Amino acid sequence: MYQTISVNTKNRIIMVDITSEVQRCVKEAGIKDGICVIYVPHTTAGITINEGADPDVCRDVLEKLAELVPYGRGYHHTEGNADSHIKATLVGSSVTVIVEDGRLVLGTWQRIFFCEFDGPRNRKALVKCISSGQ
Ligand code: ZN
Repeated sequence: MYQTISVNTKNRIIMVDITSEVQRCVKEAGIKDGICVIYVPHTTAGITINEGADPDVCRDVLEKLAELVPYGRGYHHTEGNADSHIKATLVGSSVTVIVEDGRLVLGTWQRIFFCEFDGPRNRKALVKCISSGQ
């Protein structure tokens, strides 16, 4: 069993803060201590943890990714979204967060971001909460 978070992205490239949805999944799963795996089952989207206090951090991440992996020409994959696939690989498709006392253990400034690289689309993130049995 796992839980599903729906993410309807509004732009081609965007980072969406899903921390509160993940925390809700942890609560619904009813685990006290353990780990929470958040997995994105898409080839042109990913997931990462980074600062959520200043939106310019996400802006910088996305601008730098666009600079490193530009949209458009020079790729073998002809679907037109080769840059999206590469960005998804760079960011990764899962993160794992420790759960303690029913809460995600995140740093003060950390948030969990769904990373859309080929939107807008109706996406999902899968959440698996595993109790350490303590
Ligand atoms: Zn493709």
